[in-house]
Amino acid sequence: MVYKYLFGPVPSRRLGMSLGIDFLKKSICSLDCIYCEVGKTENLTLDYFEYVSSEELIKELANFLPDCSLEIKLTFGGSGEPTLNPAFVKVIDYLNEVWPDFTTVILTNGTTMSDPVLCRELQKFDIVIPSLDAGTKKIFELINRPHKDIIFEDYIYGLIEFSQHYKGELWLETFVVPGINDGREELEVIRKIASKIKYTIYQVNTLHRPGTEKQVKTVNKAKLKKIAEFLGAELIEHQYLKVKIQNCHEKDIKEKIMNYIQRRPATIDDLFCSIGCEKIAISNELERLMNNGDIVKIIEDGHEYYKVDV
Ligand code: SF4
Repeated sequence: MVYKYLFGPVPSRRLGMSLGIDFLKKSICSLDCIYCEVGKTENLTLDYFEYVSSEELIKELANFLPDCSLEIKLTFGGSGEPTLNPAFVKVIDYLNEVWPDFTTVILTNGTTMSDPVLCRELQKFDIVIPSLDAGTKKIFELINRPHKDIIFEDYIYGLIEFSQHYKGELWLETFVVPGINDGREELEVIRKIASKIKYTIYQVNTLHRPGTEKQVKTVNKAKLKKIAEFLGAELIEHQYLKVKIQNCHEKDIKEKIMNYIQRRPATIDDLFCSIGCEKIAISNELERLMNNGDIVKIIEDGHEYYKVDV
């Protein structure tokens, strides 16, 4: 079966192997971060809407999970902010009831945490990974480019409050963009806010794949290490692949490749780990897709990435 809303399992630097569950189909988010791997936010919104139905998502999960290793984390995320789709509640309830042995994760930008009803639903996840990229409204607007109705102070308050009551693991993340949020003054404010958040792990991240805006560059490891130390955080270390690669029929290869790179740029190794076909078959299909003008190859940080041509 070729899936529309499940993607991967993908090798994730933080999570090991992660099965992405996409609640949005295309880029729909309350933020339009300059570093976003998904690309520019097409629908910048705070509206809750069932962009994909819970029935469709549960159908795909029910088909995928019987043969899935428990080492694979089930990650709500994908093409934007998953909490904007209220179907996420039925899906987490389904997973907790039918597949309680899997680890569930949600990647959220945290801007919807000012809603107490939604925070109650987030309690159902094993791991919640929210973002804190700015300490001030000015930098928040520069780096995260929020929907106009988001009030920075409410977002920060919601994040702190949620962390105080959450019983699972909260992995806080700060994404560092050189020249924007890496100055001493901003980092001091971020550190002060982070000290009020009850997190399990605090990690700093930087650009590893092509982001939305070309001017966004990566921070070198030595500097990132210093920033992490200053914030009392750690660097995200690579977790190596431990699980069996799934098998892929060659007839499905095109759909599987597109399913992956519509959501994030990928190297041949990423695709190999994720979809399980031979590298030569992947390479040939990528060549065909490039010749058709469906995708492009770009070099970032010395690595070759394939991404959808927009
Ligand atoms: S990085 Fe996350 S929060 Fe920011 S625009 Fe992309 S999907 Fe939205």
